[in-house]
Amino acid sequence: APRKLAAGNWKMNGDLATLAQINAMAGAVRGASCDVLICPPALLVPALVAKGVVRVGGQDCHAEASGAHTGDISAAMLRDAGATHVILGHSERRADHHETDDVVRAKARAAHQAGLVAIICLGETGDQRDAGQTLEVIAAQLAGSVPEGATAANTVIAYEPVWAIGTGRTPTTGQIAEVHARLRADLSARLPDGAEVSLLYGGSVKGANAAEIFAIPHVDGALVGGASLTAGDFLPIVTAL
Ligand code: 13P
Repeated sequence: APRKLAAGNWKMNGDLATLAQINAMAGAVRGASCDVLICPPALLVPALVAKGVVRVGGQDCHAEASGAHTGDISAAMLRDAGATHVILGHSERRADHHETDDVVRAKARAAHQAGLVAIICLGETGDQRDAGQTLEVIAAQLAGSVPEGATAANTVIAYEPVWAIGTGRTPTTGQIAEVHARLRADLSARLPDGAEVSLLYGGSVKGANAAEIFAIPHVDGALVGGASLTAGDFLPIVTAL
């Protein structure tokens, strides 16, 4: 079965003082039946790694290993700092930084070359769902964003409907099931171990809805934004998985 993963995406939130609460998670993380990952702002990666409580990931990386790219960081740098994962193609980066599937695929290849697990995000907008385009949109994003050489060991897919991020609105269990079944079918058709790739759901996951979401077939965990910022909000999600 795919590995279960509870992943927190802090986005542009948190500081050194915030990291203190990670200590409160140590016992629950040791007892958890899933991998627990926090992706803080890159500046906090070394300090979070030093705590040794959770796995640590970046929120983006450049497609090149090094060079003249002011302001960017590479996958190798994240790896060097102790990160094991990197989120790529989040809808906020696709929107704010005009990242296309081609860009995301190149970044994922760089992550793989550096030894990081790429958490590749995709999801439809509200307008696309209303127009009945959800499955074609996510299938195209999957085909375009996952590089050659992807395996269940180096790739995680996160389905995050854009209209569910930070809104308190979640799809129905049937809507999540439909998308995850399609992702599983497409991955299984394309990759030898596609059946083993972990598929996360993201978008307004909280303690109150986590168990219901984790019971959906082909949901192997969650990518959590707002509810990952405090141990009190995140731990109920970790223990529900
Ligand atoms: P929220 O959990 O705040 O809706 O954010 C989801 C997300 O974008 C995680 O990457």
